[in-house]
Amino acid sequence: MAVESQVSYPLSPPASENHTKALEFIEEMTRNIDAVQERVLAEILSRNADTEYLRRFRLNGKTDRDTFKSNVPVVTYEDLQPEIQRIANGDRSPILSSHPISEFLTSSGTSAGERKLMPTIHEELDRRQKLYSLLMPVMNLYVSGLDKGKGLYFLFVKAETKTPSGLLARPVLTSYYKSDHFKTRPYDPYNVYTSPNEAILCVDSFQSMYTQMLCGLIMREEVLRVGAVFASGLLRAIRFLQLNWQQLADDISTGTLNPKITDPSLRESISKLVKPNPELSEFITKECSEENWEGIITRIWPNTKYLDVIVTGAMAQYIPTLDYYSSGLPLSCTMYASSECYFGLNLKPMSTPSEVSYTIMPNMAYFEFLPHEPNAPALSRDSPPRLVDLADVEVGKEYELIITTYAGLNRYRVGDILQVTGFYNSAPQFRFIRRKNVLLSIDSDKTDEAELQKAIENATALIKEFNTSVVEYTSYADTKSIPGHYVIYWELLVKDPANSPTDEVLNQCCLAMEESLNTVYRQGRVADNSIGPLEIRVVKNGTFEELMDYAISRGASINQYKVPRCVNFTPIMELLDSRVISVHFSPAAPHWIPERRR
Ligand code: AMP
Repeated sequence: MAVESQVSYPLSPPASENHTKALEFIEEMTRNIDAVQERVLAEILSRNADTEYLRRFRLNGKTDRDTFKSNVPVVTYEDLQPEIQRIANGDRSPILSSHPISEFLTSSGTSAGERKLMPTIHEELDRRQKLYSLLMPVMNLYVSGLDKGKGLYFLFVKAETKTPSGLLARPVLTSYYKSDHFKTRPYDPYNVYTSPNEAILCVDSFQSMYTQMLCGLIMREEVLRVGAVFASGLLRAIRFLQLNWQQLADDISTGTLNPKITDPSLRESISKLVKPNPELSEFITKECSEENWEGIITRIWPNTKYLDVIVTGAMAQYIPTLDYYSSGLPLSCTMYASSECYFGLNLKPMSTPSEVSYTIMPNMAYFEFLPHEPNAPALSRDSPPRLVDLADVEVGKEYELIITTYAGLNRYRVGDILQVTGFYNSAPQFRFIRRKNVLLSIDSDKTDEAELQKAIENATALIKEFNTSVVEYTSYADTKSIPGHYVIYWELLVKDPANSPTDEVLNQCCLAMEESLNTVYRQGRVADNSIGPLEIRVVKNGTFEELMDYAISRGASINQYKVPRCVNFTPIMELLDSRVISVHFSPAAPHWIPERRR
């Protein structure tokens, strides 16, 4: 197939008839993207023609692109919230989709502090499954022998809730791992995992991680690839090993299972795998008790060919740490997906992170692209923006992704900014540039400027009684230690130095900020342990003026200078850190419960 014309990596031929079929499917889709897109839109519009939503826009049975584009508005989640709320409350009439909404997928993007609820329909599982089924056939073109061993993947389910009418609301991966598509998947030598389903499906994050790590250690020599969905997840697993290797080595030495593993089906499944193996236990003890953990992944799993984790977008901040722990193993970003829709895959999965481009599969949804002009005025319904079709995007340009899905999102703004890097056949390939309006992110949390501002305001209420205010602030996502945490730099105006806020009060300010951050942040702090306690660093008076002087010395205009609300440029960090006069951490975890607040 023509994939060969693009690659610089030694290739193997397709491994099996299934792989050949998958590669042919990619060929067919990428050669005919415009025709496939036209068909997908027509299918979506004809099946959803009688939905309340589409009837509003008087398509009158038309399913062509022109009518669709001129009648149906581009929307955000907030625009759809009334419809989504009605579905959540139990209205089963065809509001957005003619097929029944089977559940809501809870996005890590939030609206008013809560996860967005994305409607989905049952058949979307097949579409997601189809995209997954393309990944290993492509990978096998670049890395051979992956059928001769296992993948150590740290995969987790998260808490699920129900809407007032009883529809499930859960993250898309939780929905997928709990589906029969995943649980009863047929044996495929290219997709054998060290983790049994019971370990992946255990909702207790400690028990799940512990048993997945234990299995990975027991089968260490069979492991050919190590991964997690996002880079932060894999690093959390390494941190877990740092904290728990003694107990893990103990279990392996004695052939018993840590009593903290209490889930009955998990205990049963893992107990069968744990046999006394003092030699392995000694090996783990020797490697893990060393002060220096550089290359620990390759030391413990010596046959690992690559790390399978997303390191594009916000996750790029973890590349140096992954390189450190893996002695620079290749990092593979295989796919690009969201709760709203799975988009596409990386046809050159062994390319270095900065070169990664994703090819959107035109069968997944109908895709449009809003040219991204950072200073353009906000969209208005009166002057609709000109959206570009998948086949018409131009190399080098940046676009915001807009999708129309089978499940009933029409011209929905995902919020991702992509840049076209080239074409594979007639299919454009995109570099993920960033998600709009994200200031701080450690794991799947996304905090925007308004949320940070609100958190600061809530926290400053605590120092008001000390006649103190925050004159300036900025923030930084500190990922040097795992888990990473938010750092907020504060310059204070203390009007009455004899009665300045105490240490204890400033610690409480950290917690007050955390309490007002969104639910994904708080879940990361409380349930997933993927985010560490928030830190406030109080800096000397005049620091932010120095920051401005520095920016101006580098060419910023005095008139237009704005305090950056997030920083990560080393000289600026060094300036800020050299002016720190006190450091405070959140003394407790904020509140979080799986249930939505509204
Ligand atoms: P969620 O809404 O929680 O399902 O998260 C989906 C979002 O995660 C996407 O809209 C992207 O912003 C981000 N994302 C997913 N896949 C990738 C990827 N391969 N590279 C960078 N960001 C990604």
